[in-house]
Amino acid sequence: MLCKLCNKDKKLMNSHIIPEFIYKSLYDEKHRFHVISTYKQKDREKEQKGIRERLLCIDCEQHISRYENYARKVLFGGVEITVLNEDGGIVVSDIDYKLFKLFQLSILWRASISNHKMFKDVSLGPHELTIRKMLMSNKPGTAIEYCCVMMAIKAGEDTMSSFIDQPEKKRINGYVVYRFIFGSIAWLYFVASHNVPKIIRGFVLSETGTVRMAIKDIKDMDCIAGFAREAQNMGRFPDEIA
Ligand SMILES: [Zn+2]
Repeated sequence: MLCKLCNKDKKLMNSHIIPEFIYKSLYDEKHRFHVISTYKQKDREKEQKGIRERLLCIDCEQHISRYENYARKVLFGGVEITVLNEDGGIVVSDIDYKLFKLFQLSILWRASISNHKMFKDVSLGPHELTIRKMLMSNKPGTAIEYCCVMMAIKAGEDTMSSFIDQPEKKRINGYVVYRFIFGSIAWLYFVASHNVPKIIRGFVLSETGTVRMAIKDIKDMDCIAGFAREAQNMGRFPDEIA
């Protein structure tokens, strides 16, 4: 079977699409994890284990695990980063741009090559090959190439602090945006061969390793989904979106 990353005929591993460390934080005492299929919480389902698929050979699994190990430390502790509070959000700096950007890209790319119904709306077309090459060659591209806006999600005590959402595709003024939610963060990927809107650029991980993140309440999930459209309409982004 051909590995989806290196394209070599090798034994394939049972690979996660969303990294295992995210699932680990979601496992309940019965080793089930929570999936909310929409942000409106209408179709919550539980599965026994994380979504896996035979996608990558062991070498490519290890290649991608370097990005995951780093991202886990950024998200859950284990590496020194600087976090400053800002009105309506935080500014995180001292992030290794290359490793974290490649982590972001690896999630998007895996969701695109996956055949699982959870990721049916993610299809990158010609960008799939471009991102595959970036992953193989460890080249994260510039800050605005396939950039990802992250919004931290604040959950109340009665709500799950973490969950995984079925990714959605949005088309906003000619820009294709894929919205993922995992690890208490909404990840909004802008997939375009042309430049992203100027207003977006202030919210993507810079090549010097700094990113601004708005903080949104879980109740504002509708708002997060529609944030970019609203930003376009209102000419402001995203702190002022109630
Ligand atoms: Zn491989």
